Amino acid sequence: MPLERRSWAEPFKIKVVEPVRLTTREQRERAIAEAGYNTFLLRSRDVYIDLLTDSGTSAMSDRQWAGMMLGDEAYAGSENFYSLEDAVHRYYGYRHLIPTHQGRGAENIISRVLIKPGDVVPGNMYFTTTRLHQEMAGGRFVDVIIDEAHDPASEHPFKGNVDLDKLEHVLKANPGRVPYVSVAATVNMAGGQPISLANLQAVRELATRYGVRVILDATRIAENSWFIQQREAGQQGRSVAAIVRDLCALTDGCTMSAKKDPLANIGGFLAVNDDEIAQQAQNLLVVFEGLHTYGGMAGRDMQAVAIGISESVDDHHIRARIGQVEYLGAKLRNWGVPIVLPVGGHGVFLDARAFLPHIPQSQYPAQALAAALYLDSGVRAMERGAVSAGRDAATGEEHMPRLELVRLTIPRRVYTQAHMDVTAESVYCLYEERDRIRGLRMTYEPKLLRFFQARFEWV
Ligand SMILES: *Cc1c(COP(=O)(O)O)cnc(C)c1O
Repeated sequence: MPLERRSWAEPFKIKVVEPVRLTTREQRERAIAEAGYNTFLLRSRDVYIDLLTDSGTSAMSDRQWAGMMLGDEAYAGSENFYSLEDAVHRYYGYRHLIPTHQGRGAENIISRVLIKPGDVVPGNMYFTTTRLHQEMAGGRFVDVIIDEAHDPASEHPFKGNVDLDKLEHVLKANPGRVPYVSVAATVNMAGGQPISLANLQAVRELATRYGVRVILDATRIAENSWFIQQREAGQQGRSVAAIVRDLCALTDGCTMSAKKDPLANIGGFLAVNDDEIAQQAQNLLVVFEGLHTYGGMAGRDMQAVAIGISESVDDHHIRARIGQVEYLGAKLRNWGVPIVLPVGGHGVFLDARAFLPHIPQSQYPAQALAAALYLDSGVRAMERGAVSAGRDAATGEEHMPRLELVRLTIPRRVYTQAHMDVTAESVYCLYEERDRIRGLRMTYEPKLLRFFQARFEWV
């Protein structure tokens, strides 16, 4: 009998392994209580499978490690800066590279350069650090993503798309007060959902009509481009690298966390086309990050980023990366576990509202589910719901987002299919016993980005 389809496998083999520690239920009970039921406060030695984030957790290739040995740790004019600049020109196409220690460093700089107090910044759903830097520069973020993005069950192929009517409304209502449109590819908080090339083109045209710039959050642009290749009419058969270039060409600049798609453990950058903005950014860079040829990164880290960028746009790499995420998602879906659909690029997002309908949002069901998952199996996930959303900058009221999610984020090139099986089975067992999971009460609330350091107790 002919096979229905042939399997694919990862386009690499494993050269070095890092042992992980298995813990007992008693050990985990102690560890999560000490962490105030916040998975960010766990020690990594107490974690079995770490799906907290895909940020800085990727496995570097032998080429990246070899590149680390070519670190030129000169204070000024490091060779590695020029390698990174070459990679940015070649793969993204922007004219000026402003290196930063990680993505939020770039967000701080571009927000300070472009935003004036009272400005309005429309974007396709907020991201925690992006919005905070926009607010700290005196701006107000307005969400203009399509409604489907807020509906975990909607299977729209491009849930990261901008609603053009919503965007035009903001542009019309705030003449001279919109410094740029903030577009992310993919949209992290919506579940790693992509924006289409056609939609970004329409955003570009609309923004140009109002004389407004478009700044891209390119953190997961290769993953976004894979979805375009798979789903968008006319894009099949084009390379991920070509689509990445097209997306960048529609924007005036980007911020990048090199800890995500570019497969590095640390690093980031701002890249822009405008000479004057670049100059202002370089000036702020020496205040907040470092000289304009290192911006907070060691030379060896810039080299690892430069090589990682070239590996990140390889079609075989992206297929295996997203294929693994889809494998986990399909397993959970087949067992009836409520997840955000379609499965996104960097992780599977559990719909905690549907999972735990007996817990009101004021008792942080996603936070509770992440804690329960750790207790069950030592798998560490992250809350992406009311705790992450924080409070309104003006009124102090808690944001209560429609999406109350737990993110199982898959590091790139790190875990095997068996790790995905263990994770899926743990989630399924919890789903079977979901009535037993209780809500949480916050006992310590930090002022900024509270999700990182907040502490809780069971209700
Ligand atoms: C991680 C992330 C950032 C911030 O980057 P850091 O390197 O963590 O500072 C910005 N935007 C998105 C979409 C991200 O996922």
